[in-house]
Amino acid sequence: MVKNVREDCCVSDTAAPDTPGMITDAERDELRRHGILLTSLQELYTWGNSNSVWPLNFGLACCAIEMIAASMAKFDIARFGSEVFRPSPRQADLLIVSGTVTKKMAPQVVRLWNQMPEPKYCIAMGACAISGGPFKQGYNVLKGIDRYIPVDIYIPGCPPRPEALLHGLVELQKKIKGFKLTGPDAPRHLQADTTCEYPVPKFGEHDLEPSANPEVWQAPTIVRAE
Ligand code: SF4
Repeated sequence: MVKNVREDCCVSDTAAPDTPGMITDAERDELRRHGILLTSLQELYTWGNSNSVWPLNFGLACCAIEMIAASMAKFDIARFGSEVFRPSPRQADLLIVSGTVTKKMAPQVVRLWNQMPEPKYCIAMGACAISGGPFKQGYNVLKGIDRYIPVDIYIPGCPPRPEALLHGLVELQKKIKGFKLTGPDAPRHLQADTTCEYPVPKFGEHDLEPSANPEVWQAPTIVRAE
């Protein structure tokens, strides 16, 4: 049937498929117009995964107000399949770190992340979640949640508007759609040698210990001009 479509239909994109036996996007669109849906397990998996990202019902500071606004009627995050804010981390697959992460709160954030099942994703929303923001020099504020858990999408701003969160969500969906189920492009939960649980920091004598998880964050090398 694929061969017939190639020979008979009007296909504007005449680019040859990369792999013998594969069909081009134009051919697939043509089949779709005839009511025939062709897909792969991988595409089906990432399609379903990317369009049902359920965030954890969790906020930390002022950025959380913008996150809440994104779920209201004017912005309507439901258009992207993410309106189901879950009250339990065990039912959520997106952690939106929306607000200032104090060192008192950081262990709880990591614990919530560990309690979420894979596949799970993290959005650092706003300057505070990314780097400490206006409180960066504060003794009590973490300089970025990516010191302890892997962040998929960073949304700058103080605060980012709800549209920015929706843009971040769409970027996350694109990222998920690009995942492969096998090989080096597979997401971390499908790779045998990566961990899904991260060490929860504890209060030490002077600061959180460890000060970062070296698996996800290393201090940048600063080269000083002579
Ligand atoms: S980035 Fe700005 S708006 Fe967001 S939590 Fe920090 S201070 Fe508040």
